[in-house]
Amino acid sequence: MTRLAPSPTGTLHLGNALTFVVNWALARRLGWRVVLRIEDLDAGRVREGSAEEAVEVLAWLGLDWDEGPIKQSDDLSPYRAALERLRDGGLLYPCGATRKEIELAGSAPHDSDRQTRYPGINRPAPGSDPAALYAGMDVLAGDDVAWRVIVPEGAIEVVDELLGPQSIDVQAQVGDFPLATKAGLPAYQLAVVVDDARQGVTDVVRGDDLLVSTPRQVLLYRLLGLGEVPRYWHLPLVYGTDGMRMAKRHDSVRLTTHRDAGVPGERVIGLLAKWAGVTDVREAMSAGEFANRLDPERIAYAPPRYTEEDEQWLMDGKS
Ligand code: GLU
Repeated sequence: MTRLAPSPTGTLHLGNALTFVVNWALARRLGWRVVLRIEDLDAGRVREGSAEEAVEVLAWLGLDWDEGPIKQSDDLSPYRAALERLRDGGLLYPCGATRKEIELAGSAPHDSDRQTRYPGINRPAPGSDPAALYAGMDVLAGDDVAWRVIVPEGAIEVVDELLGPQSIDVQAQVGDFPLATKAGLPAYQLAVVVDDARQGVTDVVRGDDLLVSTPRQVLLYRLLGLGEVPRYWHLPLVYGTDGMRMAKRHDSVRLTTHRDAGVPGERVIGLLAKWAGVTDVREAMSAGEFANRLDPERIAYAPPRYTEEDEQWLMDGKS
C-alpha cells in the first residue's frame, strides 16, 4: 500500500506532478494499492477548493487510486487516541512557549534546514511523573498550548530506498517537537504516522524535502508501538526556470494553467518521462505507459530543471 498525500494548501505544480506520477507508477509496477489522502490539518494554510482541485488534477494526469479520497480533518479521533496514549505513557507534555521564547532560550541558532531546535524549556523536570501530572488533560484543547513529545537522545537510523542509510539525532536536530498544535490540531508528524500505520502503508514515496522529517516519524512508530516502519523513497525536487525549487507560490508552473489552456495530461506525463529518465526525449504518453516503461530498479534521476523549451513543448500540445 502507498499513498498520494496532497496538502490542499495551494495549487499543484510540475514538481508535485513528478512525485505523484512516479509514486503511482511504482505502485502499479510493484503491485501496491494506492490510497488518496488529503492532508488538510494545517487549517491556517488550507485553501478553499484546493482539495477538490488536486483530485481533478490527479485524474487529468491519468492517475487513479484504490481507496479515498480520505480527508484527515473528517475524523480526528485516531490522532486523539494516539496523543492520549503518549500522554498516558508519560511521553507528552504541554508547552505554551512562543517562537521568540524558544529562540531566546536556544543556544545553537539553527541547523542547515533553518529549523529552530526546541531547547526543552517546558519539559517536565527529571524525576517528575508526566503521566500523573497531565492525566486527563485535553491534548487537542488548543488555547495556545502545544503538546510536545519527549525525544530521547541518540541517532535514529533509516535506510532510504533511493538515498541509502540516513542517520539523524532528532533531539540534537529539533528537540522535543510538537505533536499537537497550539490551535488544537494534530501536527503533521503525528497525523502522517497515525495514518500510514492505520492505512497499512508499506511504501512512502515523496519529495526529498521531507527526508529530514523521516527520523521523527520512525521515532513515533516506535513510541506508539506501531510495528514495522514503511520503506521510504525520497525523490528529487524540480527546479523552476528561475533556479529555485518549485513551490506552490510559482504562478507559471501551476498544472491548472496547462490544463485550462487545453494541454492534455499526456503531454505533461511526456515531460515527466524525460525528467525521470523513462525516455531520452519528451514524448507524450499516458500514465499507464509511463508506468510500463519505468524501471523500478532504476529510478535515480538528477533534480530536473524546468526550462523555457519545456514550457514551449507543453504549450505546443494544446488541443
Ligand atoms: N502532504 C505532504 C505534502 O504535500 C506530504 C506528506 C508526506 O508525504 O508525508 O507535502
